[in-house]
Amino acid sequence: MPITDDLPLSTLQKYWGYDSFRPLQREAIACALERRDSVVVLPTGGGKSICYQVPAICDEQKMAVVVSPLISLMKDQVDGLVANGIAAASLNSSLPNEEKSRVIDRLQRGELRLLYVSPERLAQDGTIEQLKQANVGFFAIDEAHCISSWGHDFRPEYRQLSKLKEHFPTASVHAFTATATPRVRDDIAKQLNLQSAEKLVGSFHRANLIYRVHRRSDALEQMRTVIDQYRDQSGIIYCISRKDVANVAATLEELGYRAKPYHAGMSDADRSANQDDFINERTDIIVATVAFGMGIDKSSVRYVIHNGMPKSLEAYQQESGRAGRDGLPSECCLLFSGADLMRWKKMSNGQPAAGELLEAMYGYCTQSCCRHRILIEYFGQEFELQDCGACDVCLNELDQIDDPLIMGQKILSCVHRVGQRFGAHHVASVLTGSAAKRILELGHEKLSTYNLLSEHSKQAVVEWIDQLVGQKFLAKTGEYNVLGITESGKQLLRGELTPKLFKTAKPVASSSKKRIDNWDGVDRGLFDHLRAFRRELAAEKEIPPFVIFHDASLREMARVRPSSESHFRNIPGVGEKKLADYGAAFVEKITEYCTENQIDFDQAEKQPAAPVLKTKQKLVAGVKKKAFELFRDGRSIEEVAEMLERALSTTSGYLSDYIRENKITDPSPWVAHSVAESIRAAANEVGELEKLAPIKAILGDDFSYEQIRAVVDCMRVETDFER
Ligand code: ADP
Ligand code: ZN
Repeated sequence: MPITDDLPLSTLQKYWGYDSFRPLQREAIACALERRDSVVVLPTGGGKSICYQVPAICDEQKMAVVVSPLISLMKDQVDGLVANGIAAASLNSSLPNEEKSRVIDRLQRGELRLLYVSPERLAQDGTIEQLKQANVGFFAIDEAHCISSWGHDFRPEYRQLSKLKEHFPTASVHAFTATATPRVRDDIAKQLNLQSAEKLVGSFHRANLIYRVHRRSDALEQMRTVIDQYRDQSGIIYCISRKDVANVAATLEELGYRAKPYHAGMSDADRSANQDDFINERTDIIVATVAFGMGIDKSSVRYVIHNGMPKSLEAYQQESGRAGRDGLPSECCLLFSGADLMRWKKMSNGQPAAGELLEAMYGYCTQSCCRHRILIEYFGQEFELQDCGACDVCLNELDQIDDPLIMGQKILSCVHRVGQRFGAHHVASVLTGSAAKRILELGHEKLSTYNLLSEHSKQAVVEWIDQLVGQKFLAKTGEYNVLGITESGKQLLRGELTPKLFKTAKPVASSSKKRIDNWDGVDRGLFDHLRAFRRELAAEKEIPPFVIFHDASLREMARVRPSSESHFRNIPGVGEKKLADYGAAFVEKITEYCTENQIDFDQAEKQPAAPVLKTKQKLVAGVKKKAFELFRDGRSIEEVAEMLERALSTTSGYLSDYIRENKITDPSPWVAHSVAESIRAAANEVGELEKLAPIKAILGDDFSYEQIRAVVDCMRVETDFER
């Protein structure tokens, strides 16, 4: 059959039940079909597998070989393909001999569309010969960074792959990785001997992940704030040490959470049992060291908490990136303290790059810059959004202190007064007027900056010092982390630059947090019901639940509530095979539940539950412009939100900008007069316009944040006039 233009798309629809390709998937598929070598870099969750699975099915004359380093991953992928009705198998050391010969038979008979092999297996002469008989159209190399010594997890057996082009001159080779650095990318093409390889590099912006950073104060409480928002759903907690892992897991279990530990000190059996429980949803939380995660294909991880700072942004991106591979909103929360930095410094033992990597990581924690921006720019891509809408900085969850310039100057002048010879704790002690023996011995109580910040705690001052270090106004040097004033620090002292300094971090109560969420219209009860049913089915068939359906599909089922198989087929993730295998059973469950609970069926099959990863960030500017026009026409927030298909909170953000930019003082187009009056009264009672929460607290549930924000924005414009 000739390969027509729409064959890839119809293949995607038929087997996977997805309507459209994600960014770069189409291009990557074209490379494979046209046998042009390629290096494809997509972030975790970007959908790399589709890039080689679809072309392997489109071309019926040839098959594809996928090289994958992890047996568990291979197994999941093959299970997933088979569940979609695709002839796939794997060859690796874990298979019993008879199973191996069965696979080889099928290979020789040309029955397989995809064969997964481990690199070790491929390195064997026998395998190469078998494949030469088998009409291989192309090779896909998964986790291709393993071939590069620049990569974090270089694998010697990958080196053999450099011979593929020699052995299979007509087949093309396609490398796939989520590792973003250009150096690794070039190295991959070189090591694999690729011929003028096409490089397809996706955006690393993971719009569905919310990034938050908190200074660790009461770690358990801080973690529970996150966990409790995702009850009964999956999450990973990373700790630096095995001991921490054991403690946290035990404590959470005592508190009634379903949590299991995972670290290299446990026996292999215990470890893989716990990993299995996590994958099969017998436990919600896995508490782990960084040993956990490589090869975890679980797509519905709702949060990743770091209970301690990782040692590099590379590591952080990888580990936190395990959240939300299904594209649903998920949270990445990092708890850190200055002590983590010291701990890593000690452990790194002066390895050359370690210091630099750590500084970048610490900068991420202490800077007050959009977290998404820091990550994206660190990996060499441009970030176009002014407001990502998905990090604590952009969501304005961090409170700035009133006069950061003065505070910065006070701190830096104290660093200067102590001769740039002491660390953060000493400087903070001087500033807060400590009468410690050492201060007196040094005569530092006589300095003009002594007791200058007496109204603040020493801990708070240490934090501001860290923030100043993060923003490079101060530098920590030497074994004792002595503070020195940098060039920009001097500018700060002269008042030419202003730092951003935040109030001492407290865990933010979840109720006051904005969340990007898309449970809109989803019946939670039904979702849980379907999840339980999926778990039963999975246990019966001995496959992981997500091989049956991803959470994203279940959510959509619980939103649309299809009453028939034909409606069911329209759910994203339901292809022909899954319709045949599971359609009837799921429709029955849905019908049962909905009838019992008197809920409507067949809701609009519009917006897919999973937000498409936003790559066209420029669109945002266009939408905002449109919103401004509609506000000018006097449309309400709800109307604009609906017309632009944006969340209420996003739209209300646009209205804020509109009010501010156009200096509007009258909120009446958006908020009824009497409502506005009550909000004004409450705001006056609070006495300041900085925060909405205290105003909301007075007004209660009858007033929405959107209404309050619109009125307060107008009041702010007013007060600006009066000044
Ligand atoms: P990666 O290997 O890049 O981390 P995967 O290939 O595991 O990502 O894909 C992540 C998730 O996205 C999977 O659940 C997959 O089924 C889903 N997915 C991939 N491509 C599409 C698409 N075009 N439409 C909808 N879902 C997709
Ligand atoms: Zn941001």
